[in-house]
This record gives sequence, structure tokens and C-alpha cells, in this order.
Amino acid sequence: MKYLTGSCLCGNVKIRVADQFHFVGYCHCSECRKWSGSAFAAGGLVGAENFEIVSGEELVSCYHNSEETDLCFCGTCGASLFSKKLKLGSYIVRLGILDDAPTQRPNVHIFTASKAPWFELTDQLAKFEQLP
Ligand SMILES: [Zn+2]
Ligand SMILES: [Zn+2]
Repeated sequence: MKYLTGSCLCGNVKIRVADQFHFVGYCHCSECRKWSGSAFAAGGLVGAENFEIVSGEELVSCYHNSEETDLCFCGTCGASLFSKKLKLGSYIVRLGILDDAPTQRPNVHIFTASKAPWFELTDQLAKFEQLP
């Protein structure tokens, strides 16, 4: 199995994740927009067995957003790192924190019904108003 490394802006938190996501896509939901501060978030879903915090675990803070989701970030630099899907026992890694390029490319836009009105989707990827 090939692994990818990721890190926060200040470099204190490092993660390792298998280069094999169940899902890789762009999410336009209001949660991702608020949390990323951007038009959408690029994320990859992995099982807990394929996700590891290699260093800086004590610096990782999580915001309990709902009974389904904890949003975890670096308490030092504030970088969004990953969300913990509490019911699935899996993680959605923010692809922007990866230091390596994943083999898979995002191939779908989800929750386009709540996308930012000022952002225009111009690519040919599959689009779903909510989940596929
Ligand atoms: Zn940091
Ligand atoms: Zn989202």
C-alpha cells in the first residue's frame, strides 16, 4: 500500500493516509464553505485503519459540529486538517494539506445546491445537488 503524507501550515501536525480513498471530490456544502473559508473544499474519504496522525496529535483541536461530524484543525496555525465522521468511523482528509499528490483525482462536485452563488462551476465533472 502506498501512503501519502500531509501537514498543517505551521508543520507541527503531520498525518499519513493510504493513497486509496473511498471517495474524492469537491464539497460545496455550507459546512465546508464556512470551515475552509473558501468556495468549496476538496476532500478524500478514508477508513480509520488507513489514517494516522504521525506527529503533533496534542495540537489537534476538534470542533464538535454535529453528532455526525467533528471538524479537526491545528490549534497552533488554525489549518483545517480533516473531519471525523463519528458514525462511520472514517475520516475526510482535506486534500490541500497533502504534501504528495494522490493517485486519484477529485471527480465529482457534491452539495451543489448549497454552493456559493458567486462561484461558477465550469468543468465537466459529475455534479450532485446533495450526495450521489
Ligand atoms: Zn499547524
Ligand atoms: Zn461539505
